[in-house]
Amino acid sequence: MTSTYWTEAISEIFEEHGVTATAEQMAKVASDVELLSSTAGEYSSESVIRPGDEEVTKLRTELTLEKQKVVCKECRGHGFIGDSSDPTRYESECFVCKGAGRI
Ligand SMILES: [Zn+2]
Repeated sequence: MTSTYWTEAISEIFEEHGVTATAEQMAKVASDVELLSSTAGEYSSESVIRPGDEEVTKLRTELTLEKQKVVCKECRGHGFIGDSSDPTRYESECFVCKGAGRI
């Protein structure tokens, strides 16, 4: 089971770097990171071969791929459309990406 701590941490990290992910994707990443953090302590920092590195690389690749998803042109990745000239429309969900920010 993934603790709420990791799910929230990943959620914050994703948000900080502008990565849009579904709750399911975040839960999966959180689960992987939690696993990594629990096994990391088992290996000495002096160890040359660290089995976790491959997983970390995989995660980074996934993150990179996530970032390379096409950003929605309509909302520029925000997932909502802000219209400063019309406050009533501010933060209405983007009709192109359905609030995902990326396509
Ligand atoms: Zn959009």
